[in-house]
Amino acid sequence: MKRRIAAHYALINGRLERNIVITTDAEGTIVAIEQPEALDSCASVEFYPGIIIPGMVNAHCHLELSYLGGAIAEGQGFAGFAREIGRVRGGFSDAERRHAADMADALMWAEGVQAVADIANDALLMDIKKGSNIEYTTLFEHFGLNNLSTESICAMAEQHDAAATPHSTYSVQDAPFRELCHYGKAPLSVHFLESPSEAELYRGCGGLKEWYDRMGWECDFLHYTTPARRITESVPNGRNLLLVHCCEATPSDVELINRELGDRVTWVLCPESNRYISSVKPPVEMLREMGCSIAIGTDSKASARHLSMVENMRLLGNVGLEELLCWATINGAKALGVENRLGSIEVGKRPGLVLIEGADLHEMRLTEECRSRRLI
Ligand SMILES: [Zn+2]
Repeated sequence: MKRRIAAHYALINGRLERNIVITTDAEGTIVAIEQPEALDSCASVEFYPGIIIPGMVNAHCHLELSYLGGAIAEGQGFAGFAREIGRVRGGFSDAERRHAADMADALMWAEGVQAVADIANDALLMDIKKGSNIEYTTLFEHFGLNNLSTESICAMAEQHDAAATPHSTYSVQDAPFRELCHYGKAPLSVHFLESPSEAELYRGCGGLKEWYDRMGWECDFLHYTTPARRITESVPNGRNLLLVHCCEATPSDVELINRELGDRVTWVLCPESNRYISSVKPPVEMLREMGCSIAIGTDSKASARHLSMVENMRLLGNVGLEELLCWATINGAKALGVENRLGSIEVGKRPGLVLIEGADLHEMRLTEECRSRRLI
C-alpha cells in the first residue's frame, strides 16, 4: 500500500522545504515528491509535526562495545580512557556482549539510523548485523605496534564480506598500515588526531611517547613527521577515507589532506565521545571554513551516554540546521559510497523516513527536547 507523508518541513536537496508530500510504495521506495499549495487540500496525507529527513548515516560506531555502556566514568582523558577500556573489557560473556549490541542496534533503527560504518575487532556480531534492518559496513581494525601481520584481519574481512582498516596513525606500524591502505576497495576509517599526544609522538614527546618508552615499544613511522603527512603519503588516490574525531587537526593538516586527497575524504565528528572522554570539541568552524565534507558518528557506548545522532548534531553547536542534517544523512552516505540508494529523499531511493520532533521551527535549531523517530 502506498503512503503519503508530510510534516512542517522536509529535507529535500539539502534544503528544508515546506508543504512537501512524499509518496512511497509498500516497500518504502519514494515514488513521488510534491509541493502542493495547501496541504489540507491533499487527500489521505499522514501529517506529522516536525521535520522529515531521510534515514541517518552513523559514520562511526563500535557496536561491539555496546556492553560497556556506563562502565567507564566520564572525564578521564584520552590516556585514562584507553587504560580503563583495557581494564573493563574482559569482564563480560559473549552472550552479554551480543545482548547489548542487539539492544543498541534496535534503538538506533527506531531512532532513524539507516546505515552505519562499524568498527570491529572480531566477528562475534556479524550475524546480528547481517540480520539487522540497518545496513552495516563493517571495518575490521588493525591495532597494535607489535602486530605486524594483516593476514588474519584480511581473512576475516574476506570471510564476512567486510573491510579492513588501520586503527590510527599512532597504533599501527608502517608496513601493515600501507598494506591495508591498498587492501580492497571499501572506505578506510582511521581514528585521527583525537588527542594532542598523537602529533606529539611524531615530535618525540607527549603521553603516548612516554607510554611507548615505558613499554619498550618503538615506532617505525615517525619519519612521516606528522599524522597528516602519514595519511597523504600512505593512502592511494581514489580511496574513500573517513578521518574520525579530528579534534586536534590544525589548518595546515586539513589543507594538506584536502589538497592531496580531495573530495574522497570525509571528516567524521563524534562530539559526544569527545565530551565524554576529554571535554574537548572538534574544530567545527575551521573544518567548515576550509570546505571539508563533514559527517557525524556516535562512537561507542563506552564513550557515549547514548548512540544518538540528534544528540551529536546538537553538540556541534551553532551550525545551520540544513547543513547539520546533511552531515547526518547524505554526507555519511557519500563517505560510505551508498549515496545512490540512501542519504536523501529522492524518487527511486529507499532511504527510510525519519521525523525530528521538538525542534524550534522559528529559529530553525535543535533543542534539548529534540528526538528522532522512524516513520518508514
Ligand atoms: Zn572509534
